[in-house]
Amino acid sequence: MLSLTLAPHPVLGIGITSPGVIDDAGTVLQAPNRQWSDLPLAQILTDELGVPAHVANDANAAALGEFTFGGATGSGLLTISVGDGVGAGVILDGSLVLGHGAVGEIGHLIALDDRDTDAVLGRPQRCACGRLGCLETILSVPALRRRVGGLDPAAAEAVLDAVGHRLGLALAPVVSMLNLAEIVLSGPADLLGGPLRDAAQATIRERTLPYVSRDLQIRMTTLGEDGALAGAAVLVLSGRLGVS
Ligand SMILES: [Zn+2]
Repeated sequence: MLSLTLAPHPVLGIGITSPGVIDDAGTVLQAPNRQWSDLPLAQILTDELGVPAHVANDANAAALGEFTFGGATGSGLLTISVGDGVGAGVILDGSLVLGHGAVGEIGHLIALDDRDTDAVLGRPQRCACGRLGCLETILSVPALRRRVGGLDPAAAEAVLDAVGHRLGLALAPVVSMLNLAEIVLSGPADLLGGPLRDAAQATIRERTLPYVSRDLQIRMTTLGEDGALAGAAVLVLSGRLGVS
């Protein structure tokens, strides 16, 4: 049994973020990178710790954190969290969009298929989910580090540009459908913040009506690596007190 008795203040609840598809009860329905399925994480932690635990998808939590603490607009925000996997969260009209429970699961959207050889990225690679060419196979931090490691700056820039273009292809329909105002990237700025960001923005602009995307901004988060943690705090405040 873990103990919270060392906490200097009363503990209202615990906010946890996890990759994967997570239901309202905090059960991780599917998290391919962790090989979890139907794991009742919130219940396990509540039982162990004796205070209510709130569990949400890490990318959704990052969207909440960005909206609440990061100065993001709430009219049409998409956050993309890039780490070992890739996830997204959506805030529309001031509210987190939950959909049917798996909003923002873009990491396993196929970005390169087996009929498709990218001049820079090559053939599609096998993903942790078992399929070929998921966005995670080119955009996750390990995938990006693997591809740019040892390259000269011009070659590394070409890789980041190619990945950004593929990200833009994946996001253009989303931007067009939801009329997003802002896309916030969370992850290593040296990988995401330069040519990758620029290429994604250029591709989205090319592929959508000017009126739809002319004001769209793609930027790095201002919350560093704390976006999901800030969102976890929002989970507890909204879950326990009804405020956000
Ligand atoms: Zn996959």
